[in-house]
Amino acid sequence: MTASVKPRAACLIGWPAAHSRSPLIHHYWLRKLGIEGGYNIEAVPPEGFAGFVQRLAAHGFVGANVTLPHKERALALTLPDERARAVGAANTLWYEASTLRSTNTDIEGFINNLDASANGWDAVEDALVLGAGGASRAVVFGLLERGIKRIHVANRTAERAHTLAQQFGDTVHPIAWAAIGEALPQAGLLVNTTSLGMHGQPALELAIGALPSQAIVADLVYVPLETPLLAAARAQGLRTADGLGMLLHQAVRGFELWFGHRPEVTPELRALVEADLGHP
Ligand code: NAP
Repeated sequence: MTASVKPRAACLIGWPAAHSRSPLIHHYWLRKLGIEGGYNIEAVPPEGFAGFVQRLAAHGFVGANVTLPHKERALALTLPDERARAVGAANTLWYEASTLRSTNTDIEGFINNLDASANGWDAVEDALVLGAGGASRAVVFGLLERGIKRIHVANRTAERAHTLAQQFGDTVHPIAWAAIGEALPQAGLLVNTTSLGMHGQPALELAIGALPSQAIVADLVYVPLETPLLAAARAQGLRTADGLGMLLHQAVRGFELWFGHRPEVTPELRALVEADLGHP
């Protein structure tokens, strides 16, 4: 008698389990690659998170994405890699033998999206990063890894920019939020990692006319898809990288770790998620 083999499945753990695009993305890849597998949403409250993660395999999962409010706690409950430790949060869990590992895929999501959207971007010497939260740490880690010489970080709460700069060393320079305008003429790459410009949040009030003519502008916000910052950059003829591209690229590694195939970010997938974003 042969034992029935259950298809591999991963899940997204969050609370509340808000409407996420991850199931759409992973189901698309499963279908496209002809893999029998699953990707569920698991609504797990904070008090149940440790227990759920410690029994992830017993719940039938080979790994998971972790979202708000669990991303920081996931670090302590797993063996994090250097990326998750540097960002201070994990978004992807998987088993290495019987050890539950974790990483943060926002770093490669940001960098791979820049590679796809603005080939040769890493020739820039100066980057200006707005924001100093978790997403900013992922961006700064990626920029350092790619050898960007000077990274200026501006944050509304100055102290957080200083703490971030201390963590990452001499290449990273905190600047005052009020000094963003002065930093623009040197910025070959401008990245918005704040929530400003997101639907329901205040606008990012920034005139970017002073950016160099070859500058590249990236925005992590993806609702709306074309933020006022990206619209202004395009109107100025600058190359851009958007938040949806990053979201799609950050999902690649988890899928590969769980299902053993590296999936592609295709125009068809992007169109699928774009259509979904149009109907939140
Ligand atoms: P976070 O840790 O909460 O950081 C939020 C950042 O936004 C902080 O720097 C904060 O400044 C700044 N901010 C918020 N309101 C502001 C305001 N009114 N004026 C000036 N600055 C303000 O959040 P996060 O995890 O880094 O995420 C930040 C953004 O990136 C979110 O919009 C998130 O959706 C997006 N994101 C996108 C992707 C993707 O795949 N596209 C991945 C990760 C994150 P203070 O320190 O002064 O509060």
